[in-house]
Amino acid sequence: MTAIRILPDRVANQIAAGEVIERPAAVVKELVENSLDAGATQIEVEFRHGGRSLIRIEDNGGGMSRDDALLSLERHATSKLLEAADLDRLGTFGFRGEALPSIASVSRFEMQTRPSDSDEGSEVLINGGKFVHVRDCGRPKGTRIIVSHLFNSVPARRKFLKSDTTESAHIIHCVRLYALACPQTAFTLIEDDRVIFRSPQCATLEERVAEIFGRQMAEGLLALETVEPGLRLSGLIGKPAVSRATRHEMITFINRRPVDSRTLNYALIESFHDAIPKGRYPVAVLFLELDPASVDVNVHPAKREVRFRDESRVRGFVIRAVLDRLRNASASSLPPDPVSTSDAVPISPGEIRPITSATVPTVDASRESRIAAPFPVYRPALPLASPPSAPIAFPNSTVAPPQAAATPPSRPARSNWRYLGLIHATYALFETDAGLGLLDRRAALERIWFERLDEQYRTGTLESQRLLLPVPVELDAISSVLLVDKLSFLEKHGIDVGEFGRNFFRIESIPSWLEPGDAEAFLRDLIGAFRDGRIDEKNSVLAREELARLSTNRALRLPDNLNETEAHGLVSQLFACRQPMTNPSGRPTFIELSHGELARRFQK
Ligand code: ADP
Ligand code: MG
Repeated sequence: MTAIRILPDRVANQIAAGEVIERPAAVVKELVENSLDAGATQIEVEFRHGGRSLIRIEDNGGGMSRDDALLSLERHATSKLLEAADLDRLGTFGFRGEALPSIASVSRFEMQTRPSDSDEGSEVLINGGKFVHVRDCGRPKGTRIIVSHLFNSVPARRKFLKSDTTESAHIIHCVRLYALACPQTAFTLIEDDRVIFRSPQCATLEERVAEIFGRQMAEGLLALETVEPGLRLSGLIGKPAVSRATRHEMITFINRRPVDSRTLNYALIESFHDAIPKGRYPVAVLFLELDPASVDVNVHPAKREVRFRDESRVRGFVIRAVLDRLRNASASSLPPDPVSTSDAVPISPGEIRPITSATVPTVDASRESRIAAPFPVYRPALPLASPPSAPIAFPNSTVAPPQAAATPPSRPARSNWRYLGLIHATYALFETDAGLGLLDRRAALERIWFERLDEQYRTGTLESQRLLLPVPVELDAISSVLLVDKLSFLEKHGIDVGEFGRNFFRIESIPSWLEPGDAEAFLRDLIGAFRDGRIDEKNSVLAREELARLSTNRALRLPDNLNETEAHGLVSQLFACRQPMTNPSGRPTFIELSHGELARRFQK
C-alpha cells in the first residue's frame, strides 16, 4: 500500500489548475481580475491562437516588489484574504491565492512587475511549474504577464480545447464582461494583431456599452436603478421590443462579479415574458448589489456560480424592478411627436370602435377591481414570492394605480413614419427612423382590442346592448348544465342569457362590440372555453384575460384596405397599448429591419 504523503507543490498546482484553469479564457479572467484588484486604470489584453500560443496582460496597477512577486507564485499566497471570516466581506475578485501558481504550473509564465515605490522592476520566469529565474528589469509601474504554450505540459487538458475560434470567443466574452463591470478602467483587447476593441475610461456604463457593443445596441437599452433595504439593482435592460435568439446578452453581475446565476436569469426571462416574443431572450447588463454575507460566491472554483441565502427575495426584487422599468418605458419612451393620440384620425368604424370612458357601466366591477393586480399585463408566468391574489407591492411610487393604468395616457403617434402600403393584405410597411417597419395588421388589432376589452371587463366600463329580438339557442344537456352554472358570470361580463325551457335559452343582451348575428357563435365559444376549463372563475384575472382573448377573436374584422390615415391611426393606437410589441398570444405585432440589418443583407 502506498503511504499517504503530501503532494509536491508542482503536482498540487497542476491539479488545482485543472479546476480553476479549464481553458485559455480562464487564464484571462484570473489575470484581468488581478489587474483590477491591483487598482489598474488601464488594462491591455492580447492573445494569439485562441490563447493557446500567447496571452499577454499588462496593467498600470500597484505592481509588486520582488519578494511579493515570488511569494505570489506560492500556493495559497494572497494579499487579499486574511481570515476565513473575510470570505463574507470580499471586496476583491481574487481571494484564493491559487491562480498564479496554477497558471504557472501549466504554461511558460513570465511576469514583469514594478511597484510605484521602486525604480527597479522584477522579472520572474517559470516554465511548466519549474522556477527558471528572477532578475531585475526595467518597466513602467504595474505588471505584465505573458503566458505562452498553455497546457503544453498537460496534453489531456489540451485535448479538451475547442477550435481557436471558440476559445477566442470565450476570451472576448470574458474581457467584455470585465470591461462592463469596470467602465472607469480603460480596456484594450487585441487578437492576432487585430484590435477587437479599445475603450478609454468611460464615465458611465452606457458609454462603455456603446464602446464595445456599438451605438445601435446602446440605443435599444433603458437605464434602470432600484433600491430596497439591503438590495440594489442597476444597469441597462433592453427596451420592450428588443430581443435576441440566444441568452448571451443577458449579462449579470453580483457585487461587480460576473455571474451566471440561474436565479437572475430566470427572473429576467420571467420579467420579459410579455414584452418579447416567445422563445426569444432579453438583453440586459445588470448589476445586483447586496450584502456579501447574503450571497455565497465560493460555490464554484471558477466563481461564476453563486448561491443566495434568500433566493425568493432576490428573485421577487429583480422581477419587480424590471417589470416596473418596462412598464414605465412603454408609457414614456416613444419618440416625441407633435400629433397626440387624441388628434389622431380614428380607424374606420368597422375596424375599431372608439371606447369612451363615458360608456355606461352595466356590471358591478367592485369585486373584480379589488382582486385585480395593479399590473395585470406583465403578470409573470411563475408565481412570485407574494401570494397570487395579493397585489404585488411595488416599492416605487412611480407605479400607477389600476385606475390610471386603465386609460392609456394619450401618447405621441409615430407620424414621422412614412406609410408605404399594405402587402399581401396583411403587413403594413413603414419607412421608420431606424429602417423598415413591418406591422402585422391582425396581430396589432388583436393587441389593441385585447387591451381595451380586458380593461372594460376589469373596470366594469363595459357597454352592453339589449337585443330587440332575443336570440334563441338550443344546447345539448351537458352544455346546458354548464351554462346554467355560468349565467351570473356571463351577466357580469355583459351577456344576459335567460333559460326558457329544458335545454333552451335566449340571449337577451350582449356587449355592444358584438354583432347580434354573432351572439350565438360567441356564446358557444364561451361554453367551449368553460368546458375545457380555460375560463376558471376562481382566478378572475386569468378568466378575464381568456374572455378578452375570445372576444378579440370574435370582434376583429380586417377591412380589405388600409389607407394612409388608417395606417397611422392603427400605429398610434397600437403604441398606446401597454404591450404594443406582441399580440395576446405572444407573437410579434411589429418588426423592424434596421439600416444596419438591411446593409448587412445587401452585403454593403
Ligand atoms: P488571489 O488573486 O486569489 O489573491 P492570485 O494567485 O491570483 O491570488 O494572486 C496572488 C497575489 O499576487 C495577489 O493576492 C496579489 O497580491 C498579487 N498579484 C497578482 N497579480 C497582480 C497584479 N497584476 N498586480 C499586482 N499584484 C498582483
Ligand atoms: Mg487572483
